Amino acid sequence: MKRTPLRRKTQLKRNPQREPGKKKDLIKYQHSPLPKHNGNGIGNGFGKDVKEAVRERQYDVCAMCTAPMFAFHHRRMRSQGGPGSVENCLGLCLDHHILVHNRVNWAYRHGLLVRSTRDPRDITGFLLCPVECEINHVDY
Ligand SMILES: [Zn+2]
Ligand SMILES: [Zn+2]
Repeated sequence: MKRTPLRRKTQLKRNPQREPGKKKDLIKYQHSPLPKHNGNGIGNGFGKDVKEAVRERQYDVCAMCTAPMFAFHHRRMRSQGGPGSVENCLGLCLDHHILVHNRVNWAYRHGLLVRSTRDPRDITGFLLCPVECEINHVDY
């Protein structure tokens, strides 16, 4: 392999704090082009087309209220093998996204979360029921 000798034109500074631009320069070379952070984790599996389709389906607001969409929620979670499909995606506002993940049993009963053994395409989401609703809308 041909080697190009690396020579500094200026003397190396001992105190790195004297070069505030240095860190930024290093980061540029450390990272390969990974998907950028989009507010919903890195590389969440929903492609641009899926997100656009979901925005269109929900008129760009939360599926459960009229607040702006904050997260693209996986109905069947990624850890459960949930696909990055339109059917598996639910656009939610910040509060409803927290609610769905805090009230897991309710969310499963209402199809807002889908078990690993089920296909999200077969499960209807019951979005308008209050969190106190004890009905099993989804039969597992
Ligand atoms: Zn909402
Ligand atoms: Zn209900």
